[in-house]
Amino acid sequence: MASIAPKENVVSALDSERLFRTMVESVTDYAIFVLDPQGYVVTWNPGAERLKGYKPSEIIGQHFSVFYPQVDKDRDKPGYELKVAGETGRFEDEGWRIRKDGSRFWANVVITRLCDEHGNIIGFGKITRDLTDRRLAEQRYRLLVESVTDYAIFSLDKDGHVQSWNPGAQRIKGYSAEEIIGKHFSTFYTPQDVARRLPWTVLKTAAEQGHWEGEGWRVRKDGTWFWSLVVVTAIRDEDGNLTGFSKVTRDMSDRKRLMDEIKRHAEELELRIAEREQTNAELEAFSYSVSHDLRAPLRAIEGFAVALHEDYGEVLDETATDYLNEISKAAVRMNRLVQDLLDYSRLSRVEFALKPTQVVGAVQTVLNETAGSEDVVVHIASDVFVMAHAPALAQALTNLISNALKFHRKDEKPRVEVKAEQAGAVRVRISVSDNGIGIASQHQERIFKVFERLHQIDEYPGTGIGLAIVKRSIERMNGTLGLISSEGKGSTFWIELPAAPPIEVKPLEEE
Ligand code: ADP
Repeated sequence: MASIAPKENVVSALDSERLFRTMVESVTDYAIFVLDPQGYVVTWNPGAERLKGYKPSEIIGQHFSVFYPQVDKDRDKPGYELKVAGETGRFEDEGWRIRKDGSRFWANVVITRLCDEHGNIIGFGKITRDLTDRRLAEQRYRLLVESVTDYAIFSLDKDGHVQSWNPGAQRIKGYSAEEIIGKHFSTFYTPQDVARRLPWTVLKTAAEQGHWEGEGWRVRKDGTWFWSLVVVTAIRDEDGNLTGFSKVTRDMSDRKRLMDEIKRHAEELELRIAEREQTNAELEAFSYSVSHDLRAPLRAIEGFAVALHEDYGEVLDETATDYLNEISKAAVRMNRLVQDLLDYSRLSRVEFALKPTQVVGAVQTVLNETAGSEDVVVHIASDVFVMAHAPALAQALTNLISNALKFHRKDEKPRVEVKAEQAGAVRVRISVSDNGIGIASQHQERIFKVFERLHQIDEYPGTGIGLAIVKRSIERMNGTLGLISSEGKGSTFWIELPAAPPIEVKPLEEE
């Protein structure tokens, strides 16, 4: 039994044309209009007006070729489009079109054949979209890629065949676009990398993880290798299907060469330092054991000289007694020398625990044990602290202060001043100044080396090790040192150490 359609359906069928028209009328992003079979405009929607600038009254009845640039009109592109749409049902194109005001826009155009129930063409529907922004963006991107010569930027299809090629790629790899487009990108890899299937791993990783990044050797057209930095990115369409890859390659050969060179230098330097450290350590060990071993026979010499004096002093004549005194004095000197050498070599062996140390406290401790300290004035605030290993700082100060007291003119009483002040934000400068004999500028560097002395023993006694001890200990405490002096005018020796925040100090009597 034939059924009768419900009344609403009939109504909606009747209304559908009106509905459809309303829909088309409300579209403003697309130009939607109808052409008669010859291409004359029959309808015009607000989208068409917005896009092309014509009001319906201005354009209805006009031929649609007015939307085309002159070159297209000359070769009857509009006619060709209608012909294809008429024959195949549809024509799609992208290209420049002209607005009423003469300006151009990049259009995506779809022309669809409209037929009556007998299959006769009654006209064409035309939908036009303005893609100028996208077109410009693409063009800008292309221009950018084209202008880049420092990077090879090219695309690969899903299987790794080269699809596009920029001037940078040509410059870096040596192939022209015609030579390489269509070839597989494994061409750029070394035979070893091809053997281990690296190019395919790169594509697989990029496809799975979105991109692949790495450095390695690649091969130019002329067979030479270059060190490259490569980023391969997977390209997917809107549906997420893999369509290919983009590849950006940078020639890093110069940087690689430089890095290799720096690495080689660093290794060489390390080797030399290691050798030097080894030699130094051996020398240190040698001087330490020699000094150590010398002490026993020295004590024997000193002891027997004293015994000889005590037991046989009365039978010795004056010359023999003088000789004996010389032996004793030499032994004392040698003892001093051995002790200084031991101190010096110990400086590179012991661990330095750096702690905030009050400078005035350290100076006072030294003065308490230094002969002649009544000639020393101290100008140091109690809140001046440095990061130091207290025994090493005391040893350095002892040497500087005793030198300052020692190297004075015979006819003048020594006057020594010890000061400490901030040197910049993070350092403290401690200086020891005297009114002594001064040091000529040509000697000022060498006196910090072991055994370097400027005077005879009987003029100014000493071992020539004191300043070497000062230098080594200050440097081990991350400090620096120096000297301001001129001959006959006194000297100022200074040391600079990292400043430390003041901490509470126990009163001296409690120590
Ligand atoms: P020493 O004092 O045992 O000779 P040092 O290493 O302490 O050895 O000093 C090396 C030399 O530097 C001294 O022999 C002396 O010539 C010179 N010197 C050091 N301090 C002073 C000073 N305050 N005034 C003049 N000369 C100095």
